[in-house]
Amino acid sequence: MNYKKLAELYEEVSSTTKRLEKIDILSKFLKSLKKEDSNILYLIEGNIYPDYDERKTGISNQLAIKAISKATGTDSKKVVQEWKTVGDIGKVAEKLTKQKKQSTLHSHILTTEKVLENLRKLPELVGKGTVNKKLALITELLTSASPTEALYLVRTLIGDLRIGVQESTIKYGMLKAFFKNNKEYEDKIQRAIDNSNDLAIVFQIARKGKIKELEQIHLEVGKPIKAMLAQKAKDIEDAFKKLGKPMAIEYKYDGFRLLIHKANNKISLFTRSLENVTKQFPEVEEYIKKFIKGDSFILDSEAVGYDKKTKNYTDFQKISQRIRRKYHIEKLQKDLPVEINVFDVLSYNGKSQIDVPFKKRRKLIEKILTNHPYKLISSKHKITSSKKEVEEFYKKALKDKQEGIMMKNLEAEYKPGRRVGHMLKLKPETNELDLVITGGEWGAGKRAGWISSFILSCRKGNKYLEIGKVGTGILEKETENSKITFGNLTKLLKPLIIEEKGKSIKIKPKIVVTITYQDLQKSPNYESKWALRFPRITLLREDKPLSEIATLDEIEDDFKNSKHQNYRYG
Ligand code: ATP
Repeated sequence: MNYKKLAELYEEVSSTTKRLEKIDILSKFLKSLKKEDSNILYLIEGNIYPDYDERKTGISNQLAIKAISKATGTDSKKVVQEWKTVGDIGKVAEKLTKQKKQSTLHSHILTTEKVLENLRKLPELVGKGTVNKKLALITELLTSASPTEALYLVRTLIGDLRIGVQESTIKYGMLKAFFKNNKEYEDKIQRAIDNSNDLAIVFQIARKGKIKELEQIHLEVGKPIKAMLAQKAKDIEDAFKKLGKPMAIEYKYDGFRLLIHKANNKISLFTRSLENVTKQFPEVEEYIKKFIKGDSFILDSEAVGYDKKTKNYTDFQKISQRIRRKYHIEKLQKDLPVEINVFDVLSYNGKSQIDVPFKKRRKLIEKILTNHPYKLISSKHKITSSKKEVEEFYKKALKDKQEGIMMKNLEAEYKPGRRVGHMLKLKPETNELDLVITGGEWGAGKRAGWISSFILSCRKGNKYLEIGKVGTGILEKETENSKITFGNLTKLLKPLIIEEKGKSIKIKPKIVVTITYQDLQKSPNYESKWALRFPRITLLREDKPLSEIATLDEIEDDFKNSKHQNYRYG
């Protein structure tokens, strides 16, 4: 397909902020696509592969500047200058391409196939000496691009499409295009998306308009799946009301989520952001092979760190480095051992388990897994109708240095990627939020060269709304207990700067942090209309995807609830 047509779609959906209008535009576009155009679905989301695939374009602003300079025959200093005034690097590409087009007449036609072909070569090029090859691939595209095409090409390249389209917009687009907006099918399309995590596959089947075929999209062992998420319980009574009696209670381990896949004797481990971390955890691979029966399965679990000497559980931050570090794995494995706590099963020996009631899934876990404490065990679990028992269990969980408890409905199914009302968490009340850094300011004096204050945002739909600013509490030097230093944050955030004016910078939302704060108050100064008082960054949540940060609705709900109740034990 002509890339021009896709660029027109980007323009059209960007021109409205209304969700229904976006869905309408998208549904017309989807209808016009042929079966072989299915890869365009990735481009609509600003990707080049399905969401779970780790191959991204990941081009730095610097490389984008070089390519724009080369393709438009503009001195790179001038491109940088334009960037400082215009802000958006995509807009710079658009402007300079427009100027060039006025002086030259030639123009090739750019197709979506050609765009994808070149973009998909980028992540394959790694190591030294590849910069020029990447530059050539990008310049080739930009030279043939019209101004509008250049705008969206550059935004796709730097991974910041900004057209306000989410997975759900595409889902509703398909519902309207192929199923006459029949609301009964909404869940079925969602299920197909959750099971495959691949919009192109769902599109290929949905376009035939046969819902039965869509229902045939099942989980695939070895392909990452989004984890099911929990809601908060107000208190134990609230949990019984929502989950019924009896309910299951489990420790809420303070580690990180690990989805375990086994197929053909091959183990794959994925985080909740669908990142493949198998190589980082060779010992876990061994545990799974040794302590779990079965030829193929998908299990859900939490990996928790413990002190190798005292055997006491440690907090998440300590072991989080094991997710990132790709070297010295043996040493890390020794110094920061993990215990795997299995709490769910999604598929077993070729049979999907997600529609099976939780109590049966739990039985299956107990049947196939032999407990090996400090290596791999099934999560601490109890079935009860007694409030007192839950209270005791909760206190014990806190004493064992875990975060609290999870409470689960015994009959419920597993819903990948959903935050469900049939799995509730209870933990001591803290003023804590997971937010994303979207801006900041360069420091001066002693802090020159560092970003010295950080703007925090929450989420509303597909927008990120500012809600506070944090500067204090960040260290100048790393300590044994904390890596949250100006230097480390600057290193993480610098490649994500999308706009810079004077000292103030805008940062592409990517780095998720946990913050604590003293209070929340109404404020006209921030887009969210709220301001956090005295926020402090306490954790880097490298395991947490953007889609799971705090939403404005949740924050407002919490604010309302905290006035009425202050649940606390122990
Ligand atoms: P929090 O910040 O409160 O941990 P979260 O946003 O990281 O919450 P939630 O879905 O709200 O994630 O809380 C559930 C998380 O708790 C799961 O993602 C999982 O990683 C962890 N967890 C620990 N123990 C269990 C358990 N027994 N059952 C289910 N999830 C568990």
